[in-house]
Amino acid sequence: MKALTLTADWAPKADYAITDYEIETRKVRTGSKVWKNPQIKVGQLPDPDPKPDEVIIQVGAVGICGSDMHMYERGSDDYMLYPGLTRFPNILGHEFSGKVAAVGSDVYDLKVGDLVTAEEIQWCGKCVSCRRGFVNHCDNMEELGFTTPGAMAQYIPVRAKYCWKLDEIADRLGDEQEALVMGAMVEPTGVSYHALFNRIHTWQPGVYVVVFGGGPIGLAAEALALASGAAQVIVFDTSPARREIAARMGATHVLDPVGIDLNETILDLTYGRGADFVVEAAGAPDHTLAPLTTGLAVNATVTVIGLATNPTPLSLVHYQTRGVQLAGSLGHAGHGTFQNVIRMMASGKLDMRPMVSARVKLDDALGAFHRLESRQDAKIILLPN
Ligand SMILES: [Zn+2]
Ligand SMILES: [Zn+2]
Repeated sequence: MKALTLTADWAPKADYAITDYEIETRKVRTGSKVWKNPQIKVGQLPDPDPKPDEVIIQVGAVGICGSDMHMYERGSDDYMLYPGLTRFPNILGHEFSGKVAAVGSDVYDLKVGDLVTAEEIQWCGKCVSCRRGFVNHCDNMEELGFTTPGAMAQYIPVRAKYCWKLDEIADRLGDEQEALVMGAMVEPTGVSYHALFNRIHTWQPGVYVVVFGGGPIGLAAEALALASGAAQVIVFDTSPARREIAARMGATHVLDPVGIDLNETILDLTYGRGADFVVEAAGAPDHTLAPLTTGLAVNATVTVIGLATNPTPLSLVHYQTRGVQLAGSLGHAGHGTFQNVIRMMASGKLDMRPMVSARVKLDDALGAFHRLESRQDAKIILLPN
């Protein structure tokens, strides 16, 4: 089969305390501290066979994510930018959908021909975190497309327990290919769903929402907020192209945060009450959350999705005096998230397709990665078959 593989050199930085476990498994916690000279190429690999608990999925659509870009892009020292869990060489791609092409001997609830998507978080179900219900924080986590083979390939093996059927979307749309494109966006949309509705149960229809970052995760937060009764969704992004997409998807206000007073601007737009729900999806909390003070409403909720490794100074007195809650959010597994995102998409309440600027063949993937370097597009979808 055809597949896009990322290779990189193993070169742990001197200041990185690498563990024996990382050396033994080659699964590293902080990719940007270990992997040098990342390179991608499309080539031929053997077709996968299903293990007893797996299905083989013929990939119909797979999105290129900001994380994929950060694994492909390198800093001035030639180390990869992505600071998370990784193992290379590996096939990239974790936002995908497809058709079940083969089932393992122990799989009972999926059959050949089913349209499915799958969770990227490969939780074990056995560790203490999983048993407590926190599967996004599995102690033995593997991540599809990061530490295990991904979906930028014609076929991918996935454990049946991570798969979710897309038949409801296909039924409502009446178009299998469109259902697959939509299905490829369940995973990133699930990341935002988890932050809005699972982490802290403060969501109320009628809230004023501020979203920092108009990338795919921020746009998904915007779309979910609008579909769930937000009275205003204010999106901040430095890119004019991304502000344009955010506006097209229904944001009530889109603004460039550079050179403005954030608190004054938010207070102006919220009739002096401030933002009830803040989503940090820019990965730049120094510029988004650090200056946020009077722009936070009483009983506001702040959720952090964007990944930033440096400590951020916050004006905690405002969190106290306004009773603000702050929640870190990671992942999309568990809590019924995939099911509910699929249902929202099928119902017509949630359509992430307007953020897709191109659909390209796997053979043209390198060009698509190159094009995304400028961050003018929100989402490019690859069609491997
Ligand atoms: Zn992603
Ligand atoms: Zn676990």
